[in-house]
Amino acid sequence: MTEKVVIAGAGHAAGQLVASLKQQKFAGQIVLVGDEPYLPYQRPPLSKKFLSGDMPVERLYVKPASFYDDPQIELRLETLITEIDRDSKTLKTDSGDITYDKLILALGSKVRRLAIEGADLDGVHYLRSIADVDGIHAELQHKKNAVIVGAGYIGLEVAAVIRQLGLAVTVVEMADRVMSRVVSPEISDFYQIEHTTQGVKLRLSTGIAAFRGEGRISAVETAEGELIPADFVVVGIGIVPNVELASDAGLTVEDGIVVNDQCQTSDPNIYAVGDCTTHPNSIYDRRLRLESVHNALEQAKTAVSNICSKETHYSQVPWFWSDQYDLKLQIAGLSTGYDDIVIRGNPADRSFACLYLKDSKLIATDAVNSPKEFVHSKTLIAARTVVDRDKLADTKVPLKELY
Ligand SMILES: Cc1cc2nc3c(=O)[nH]c(=O)nc-3n(C[C@H](O)[C@H](O)[C@H](O)COP(=O)(O)OP(=O)(O)OC[C@H]3O[C@@H](n4cnc5c(N)ncnc54)[C@H](O)[C@@H]3O)c2cc1C
Repeated sequence: MTEKVVIAGAGHAAGQLVASLKQQKFAGQIVLVGDEPYLPYQRPPLSKKFLSGDMPVERLYVKPASFYDDPQIELRLETLITEIDRDSKTLKTDSGDITYDKLILALGSKVRRLAIEGADLDGVHYLRSIADVDGIHAELQHKKNAVIVGAGYIGLEVAAVIRQLGLAVTVVEMADRVMSRVVSPEISDFYQIEHTTQGVKLRLSTGIAAFRGEGRISAVETAEGELIPADFVVVGIGIVPNVELASDAGLTVEDGIVVNDQCQTSDPNIYAVGDCTTHPNSIYDRRLRLESVHNALEQAKTAVSNICSKETHYSQVPWFWSDQYDLKLQIAGLSTGYDDIVIRGNPADRSFACLYLKDSKLIATDAVNSPKEFVHSKTLIAARTVVDRDKLADTKVPLKELY
């Protein structure tokens, strides 16, 4: 019987792990170990309402402090895990060893950093944690010119918030369109027009050569030699999963910690969930490494069910969202490899969807201010049936009639 579950990492997935262990009436000891000084919290608002100042810090927490006030739960915050010793089933940390019966790795990811001249100047920010937002908030008090490096979800969300606070914002992106890794050119065009209309300057197909300044950043130098004035910079160029502890311990690691559809690693006593994992997905028939709340929460529930002897398998349609200005972009599925695209609705109405097909089956949908299209797409994608593209395009035909 499992008497002690140790959770490594105290982020979003970890909060759900503790909640699920309690829901499943796990009777043993739960130890939650994380290096941040906070209770498990949600990161999406960090580039949205928490950044804009419209959400207090308490609302970020997955569960209130009282939830962890339980003799069954031991909280070890501000504790860095340095090693997993699988032979003795022990976690080594900077404040002592912790033994486990079952270990769940919920280590998340870290930001990808720019290795260029001036990278260490004051005023260069990244965005992953509450502490990072504190640093950006301090800049917002007195500064006028912000440069955002990277036009992915996070870069564009930050651009939207900061622009709405009245600062001059320039976004610099290496690709020739925004969000190019995740959406089609049709959606990129729509968002480019929106940001430009809001007064954001977009520099596409532009690399960064250096950050310039004396001690503190004053300008961003592009690869073409242009100097863009910058009082501060926020870099959002992607993340890297935290896999080092797992690989050093000899667990199988690819572009994430390899787990099966029960969230079990190559060691049956160690599970892994959330951003740090790669898992098999039967809908797309390949392994996925996802950076999303949905994945973190569902993998957490799956791992706990299996630890509590209720065999559960995880394979779902992934989904994501992004809030920019008054636009809610909801993404169901993964559009990689699509061979046909259907636009449902009219972008000029600020409510439409882009539906991606492969072999006449729906594989993904990007829905802009169209929650019904998003919800029904998830079911249509999972059904993997051939769909009539004319009906998909016809807003008078509800998507729910197509499955
Ligand atoms: C600004 C921002 C906006 C986002 N917006 C969205 C969104 O709109 N929609 C969406 O679906 N997703 C969004 N995401 C992604 C989402 O937040 C992540 O997918 C989610 O947090 C993953 O949860 P996790 O528990 O796997 O990792 P995390 O929440 O990152 O938790 C991992 C924890 O482990 C800790 N840790 C790592 N290594 C160690 C160690 N050696 N010792 C101790 N502790 C350690 C980390 O410090 C961290 O606290 C956003 C992320 C960010 C940063």
